[in-house]
Parts: sequence; C-alpha cells; structure tokens
Amino acid sequence: MSAVPEWSRSNLWDLFDLSPIAGSDLQAYLETTLAKCVAWFRASGGSIFLATNYDTYELKASFGAMMELPEHAVIHRGQGIGGIVAQSGRGKIINDPHRDPELAGVKGNSAIVSSMVIPLVDTKRKTIGILNISRRFGELHFGDDDLEQAEALGAHVALSVSNAQMVATLHETINETLIANEKLRTVLDSVAGSVVVVDANGAVVNHNQSSDHSQLIEALNHECDSVFGNALRATTKDVIKSGVAKKERVFDKESDRWWVIQGLPLNSGGAVMTVQETTDDVRRQREASRTKRLAEIGQMTAAIAHEIRNPLTGIRSAAQMIKQDHEMVDEFIPLIEEEALKLNRLCEEFLEFARPIPMDLTSTSLADAILPVVKLAKPCFEEKGIQYHESLSTNQPILQLDVRRVGQVVHNLLRNACEATPSGGSIRLEIDADDFRVIDTGSGIAPEAQEKLFSPFFTTKSDGTGLGLCTSRKIIDAHGGTISVTSEPGHGTTFTVTFNRNAA
Ligand code: ADP
Ligand code: MG
Repeated sequence: MSAVPEWSRSNLWDLFDLSPIAGSDLQAYLETTLAKCVAWFRASGGSIFLATNYDTYELKASFGAMMELPEHAVIHRGQGIGGIVAQSGRGKIINDPHRDPELAGVKGNSAIVSSMVIPLVDTKRKTIGILNISRRFGELHFGDDDLEQAEALGAHVALSVSNAQMVATLHETINETLIANEKLRTVLDSVAGSVVVVDANGAVVNHNQSSDHSQLIEALNHECDSVFGNALRATTKDVIKSGVAKKERVFDKESDRWWVIQGLPLNSGGAVMTVQETTDDVRRQREASRTKRLAEIGQMTAAIAHEIRNPLTGIRSAAQMIKQDHEMVDEFIPLIEEEALKLNRLCEEFLEFARPIPMDLTSTSLADAILPVVKLAKPCFEEKGIQYHESLSTNQPILQLDVRRVGQVVHNLLRNACEATPSGGSIRLEIDADDFRVIDTGSGIAPEAQEKLFSPFFTTKSDGTGLGLCTSRKIIDAHGGTISVTSEPGHGTTFTVTFNRNAA
C-alpha cells in the first residue's frame, strides 16, 4: 500500500484505543477492533480466533466476508494455515487462497483473493489468538508493508486481549474471594465462642461478632491483667512461635470462671484463637454430681445405721459387763475405746463423703501431684515385702488439679493394692500425660464384687469402711475425669484414673 490516506490516520489511532476493554467486555472489544482492522486495510472481511486451551483456537469474532464462518469454527495448532501460524508465531500472507483450501481453517473461501494470517502473541511469547484479514476478488493483494503493520496491530491486540482476560480472571477471583469471605464470616459469627485472627505479632486482624469478643481483643492488646488475659496471651504467643495447635483450660479462682482456649497456627505466621467460656457447663456438672451424691446418701442411710449399730452394741455390752462386775473395767475399757474409735473413723469418712468437695485447683503436672504421696505408701510395701516399680512419662502437661484430693485418691489406691497383695508380689505405678494406673499382682476382684466396688460401704475387709473407692470416685468426678478397674481374680488388679485435659 502507498501513503496512508488522511481519513484513515485517525482510525489507526482508534485501533490503539483501549477504552472498549476498560469495561472488560472482551467480545465488544474484539468485534470493534476487527471491524477497524478490516476498514484500515480496506479489506472485505476478517476473523479473530482465541485460544481455548494450548492446542485449539475458537472463532470469537468475524466480519464481512468472514461472516460465513461456522459459529464455533476451531483451528487446531499445527493444522492448516492458521494452525501453522499459531505454532510458528509468525504472520503469513496467502494470495490466491483457492489454491490453498486450508486457509485458516476457512471453508468456502473461494471469493477471497488475498489473506493475512497474524498470530496474536502475548508478552510470554505465547500465541493466544489468530487474526485473519481478507480481501475479495477485485481488491489488491496484501504486500509486505501490510503484513508488517498487521503484525504490529496483532501485538497490540494480543496485549489488550491478555489484559482483558487478566482483568476478567481478576474480577472472577475477587468475586469468589468476596463470596468465600462472606461464607466464612457467617460461619464464624454462628460459632458459639469468640474467634479472633491474629497476625505474626499477635495483633488482632479480624474477629467474629460473639458477645464477648471485645473482652478477647482487650486481653490480646494487653489491656487487662487477669488470669484469663494472661493465659490467652501466653497460648497465642506459644501457638505463633511453635506453629503447633494448642488447647488449654483456664480457671480463674477468684471469679470461679472457666474457659477453653484453642489456637490454630496459620501458614502466614499468625493464628486463629477460639475462646469458649465453659463456666456454666462446669457448674451444671457440679450440680449433677451433687444430685448424684444426695441420692447416694439416701441409699447409704440404711447401711450407715447398720455400721453404727455394731460398734454401739459392743459398747453397750461392755458397759453392761462393767456395771455387773467393776473388776472387768480394765478388760472392757480398751474394747469400748476401740469401738468408739471405729465409730469416729466411720463418722469422719462418712462426712468426707457427704460433704460437697470444695475444689482447690492449682496448675500442676500429674507427676508433681502424685509422687510426693507415693513416699507415704512405701513403708507399707517394705513391711509386707512387696516390690514397688514406677514409670513416668516425660510428657507432663500442666493440668488443673486439687493436689491434696488427687493425693488422697493415690493413697487410697496404693493402700488397697498393698492390702490385696501378698508378700513377694509387686505393685506398679504408671504416670502418663493425663492418666495414671496402679497395677498390683494381688488377690484380684471377683466379677460380682467389681460392680459394687465404688458403692459406699462396700468392703470385704473386717476392719474396712468401704468408703475409700467411693470417695476416690467422687474426687475424680469433680475433676471431670474417670476411674475404672480391670481385674483378674487370683492374678491382680489395675485401677486407671484419667483426667480429661479439656473437660469442663
Ligand atoms: P476398704 O479398703 O475400706 O475396704 P475401699 O472402697 O477402698 O474400701 O475398697 C472396697 C473394696 O474393694 C475392698 O474391700 C476390696 O474388697 C476391694 N478392692 C479395692 N482395691 C482392691 C485391689 N487392689 N485388689 C483387690 N481388691 C480390691
Ligand atoms: Mg480402701
């Protein structure tokens, strides 16, 4: 082509006008651009194919003579003129295309006299589309100048198309993110507890709308010095630093409130902290065990009357004997004393059982709570010639325990084991993270007796009170734990006590 006529110069600038793409309406942009290209080259038709995947290009816009193309015409990479241009990344002029029936996958192109097939190559040198501009019979053939211009235009169109595609993808991603965010927020808001997201420095970046989220934020921002605040800050710091999930129970003695704090580390370096106050659950549980105990006390009344009657009868008989014969004082006074002591011990143990347990919880490991008590039981083992073994897990997390009460349970279990084990037998104490076992090689317990073990006053010993295991269970219950027994008569017994680290 010779000099560019004046009228079309402004049209050339139009070709570079990016405004149609601003609204990310790619289709409108393609159609306008194609029409302008056809006009610029004074051609009679044109088409644009865009990549649907790496190997195929689908017809997206056609103009003039190319309107006859089937709606979803496809060019395969490497096949036909269009496919070869896509593969080589270089534009091509085809004159007298009726001699070349494969022109850009175009069928029925007999009216076309000259065509330019231009690859639309993006900045990563990938062919993202194919531009085809054709002239009919009676029009001039395209020359090398035309090809050069068309390639420049092609580069520009490729840039605009990939921009538009990026914008569309971005819009889609933003929309998807917004939807996902909204879903997440709804889920977080519907969670019963408070959820707070903190960054790697522990600063709050997001939270749900729970009733006490402000208390959490204050605590995390070091605005309150409380047991809860300190525990939350410590757990958060720990989760961020270790990158390991954590779950803690927190108890504030002063306000008698309980919380469960959970932390999940984020890959980005922060953490998601969830807090649930469990005070009501704990109180409900205490109330339930109180009710249970009251029912048991009811059942015990008959048993206790029986227990009291025996020593009382003994005392009365002794008194009558003394009354009849004063000389017998020395013989019967110790008997009276002994029976009175028995009554006193019975009263003490009963009171211990009947009283609600005022728990005095402290943060301590199981080993620290148990080991000092073991020392007290050792003389009994030595006296009877029983071997004692101990195993201790190195994982000793901090639990909330009433040390004195837990000690009482350990003492009861070790004493029972000692009483049941003959000389030469052995007793083993195993302390794990949140449970412990007392294993003996003693007499074992008959299956029918196993069912009654934890009932008050169940004893097989002449001097037993039958309150040891019953009180032990009450103590473990109050900790939210469990106590269980397995036994093989004649071989031995294992008592297992488990503290649920996360129980209310
Ligand atoms: P007491 O020791 O006063 O009898 P406990 O409540 O401590 O009361 O125990 C109840 C009963 O359970 C005992 O009398 C005994 O029959 C049985 N028992 C408890 N521990 C063991 C054990 N380690 N081996 C065998 N029997 C046991
Ligand atoms: Mg006992």
